Amino acid sequence: MKNNPVLIRQLFDSESSTYTYLVADTDAEVALLIDPVSEKLSSYIQLLTDLSLQLKYALDTHCHADHITALGPLRDITGCETLAGKPSEMACVDRFFGDGDILQLGSIALRAIYTPGHTDDSYCFFLDGEQQLLFTGDTLLIRGTGRTDFQNGSSEELYDSLFTKLLKLPDQTTVFPGHDYKGWTQSTILEERQSNPRLQVKNWQELDSLLEQLKLMNPKLMDIAIPANKQCGKTSLPDAGLNFLADKPL
Ligand code: FE
Repeated sequence: MKNNPVLIRQLFDSESSTYTYLVADTDAEVALLIDPVSEKLSSYIQLLTDLSLQLKYALDTHCHADHITALGPLRDITGCETLAGKPSEMACVDRFFGDGDILQLGSIALRAIYTPGHTDDSYCFFLDGEQQLLFTGDTLLIRGTGRTDFQNGSSEELYDSLFTKLLKLPDQTTVFPGHDYKGWTQSTILEERQSNPRLQVKNWQELDSLLEQLKLMNPKLMDIAIPANKQCGKTSLPDAGLNFLADKPL
């Protein structure tokens, strides 16, 4: 029997509690990265080298407010194609994907699902095969969801994305979130439908009031990260990455 060539690696940035995913077809020796973080650039390059994989694509599920993307430097170093979803303001990318678009990586077909709500440019990626896998960005987190209070976020749209798109996927679909703050690594659609407090609501207004009650602070890097991410991770400061923050009062 032929081995399954699909390789998934979940990589973590502890500064922003971001999960980055390496997806690879090991037969074709090609890979893509979902939501790479600028600070982790060297570890991605090392991993690709160690596994003898050519990086074909680097993509962001949405324009992030809490960390700086590694899309630009990855393109510079590896020659990969960079992607973000319509209507993203990340004009720096090579290509925009839209709802239903297929990203082909060797024998792997990843389907983009437009899931606005956390931001108006949020997408999830579904891999249908022997196993069903869903990379949810910040739309669906483990026992949580993304917030909806900036970057054209909308609780009404988030409710619609969750209930009419993601929860319609097969129960056994593995959920790989874009962040986790408690150490959870993966879940399933069934588990989230049953146990995620934000999915126990009857309408978008109930979801909105749950989110409202959280009284979340803005991410500390928001004013730096969003403008930098619109340029694929370029900052106006000498060094990309966040080292420069060490000597700046936050
Ligand atoms: Fe986000």
